[in-house]
Amino acid sequence: MMEITAAVLTAPKQKFEIENIQLDTELRPEEILVKIVATGLCHTDIAIRDQHLPFGFPGILGHEGAGIVVKTGSSVTKVKAGNHVVLAPASCGKCSYCKSGHPSYCISFFPMNFGGIRNDGSCPYHSHDGTGIAGFFFGQSSFATYSLVSENNVVKVPEDVQLEILGPLGCGLQTGAGTVLNVLKPSSGESIVIAGVGPVGLAAIMAAKAAGCTSIIAVDIFDNRLDLAKELGATDTINSRELIVSEEINNRLSPGGVHYAVDTTGRNAVINQLLGSLRFMGTCAVVGILPAEKLEVDSQFFTMGRTLKYVIEGDSVPDIFIPQLIELHKKGMFPFDKLIRFYELNDINAAVEDSEKGITLKAIVRMPQ
Ligand SMILES: [Zn+2]
Ligand SMILES: [Zn+2]
Repeated sequence: MMEITAAVLTAPKQKFEIENIQLDTELRPEEILVKIVATGLCHTDIAIRDQHLPFGFPGILGHEGAGIVVKTGSSVTKVKAGNHVVLAPASCGKCSYCKSGHPSYCISFFPMNFGGIRNDGSCPYHSHDGTGIAGFFFGQSSFATYSLVSENNVVKVPEDVQLEILGPLGCGLQTGAGTVLNVLKPSSGESIVIAGVGPVGLAAIMAAKAAGCTSIIAVDIFDNRLDLAKELGATDTINSRELIVSEEINNRLSPGGVHYAVDTTGRNAVINQLLGSLRFMGTCAVVGILPAEKLEVDSQFFTMGRTLKYVIEGDSVPDIFIPQLIELHKKGMFPFDKLIRFYELNDINAAVEDSEKGITLKAIVRMPQ
């Protein structure tokens, strides 16, 4: 047993409470104990708080962790104590999706990332009165000073980059960048529109620029976010509160339509606007949580070889993709540090509030050291 500090969510729609709790550190063979240095705050943490996705209470959220390996279980070979790691979503490594290089669609994705306990039913997180606390959120529950993870979902990262900023590569940033680089795979000179330029959309924009897209159109309802999109690589911007996206694109910015679209809003009307902006055989990728049960698509747009595709976590293999994003960052081609604002663990509720208000794009919560 060791004492750790965690931001615990005790009930839906409440604030996080900073608590000292017990973690059983007797590791299973594949497990790794990681000292968390910092962790990003992602929209999905807020969606869990509001019960748009299921998770147990009391529970520890956080799924963009970065830290240092403390100790490893008997079968672990990927990392050793002292290594810097980024934590990615959990996956089984054994199913046909994992084996074919698509761990984001792992057959066990939901139980492993939202189940709150180990596969064998045990729960290593407890409050001092013995109450079990749900952990293993996205295989990590990184709103804590220490995290129990599996060999499958740690990614070893180089030590010559600031570890504190790397956590969001494990979810939000790989979602945006991976959707472009792993799924849409634009050729240089092609065109793309990205709707909703929060951290995921901005990562998609930086990736589109890195891939050589020559027409990168950012869509949002906030001018300050569109300004940042331009700074990070957008060639054109559309404020969709003022203009009709498909008309702007077809009539002015990219006559005949764009090759690709990325939607980060999950909104039916926006997805239809994007489909209406595609050229023949174009593809629209949807990421993020769909708030409505039904997605209704205008059949007029859904013809001529167009594709609508849902993408989880950028369909990446984190062990390969996260180091690639770090290399792009080192070369100045993926300047995601411009999105970041740091908060201390005690101020995690302010980080949530600022993120919801749009004051902060990517909050990173630092753990007390
Ligand atoms: Zn699997
Ligand atoms: Zn996330």
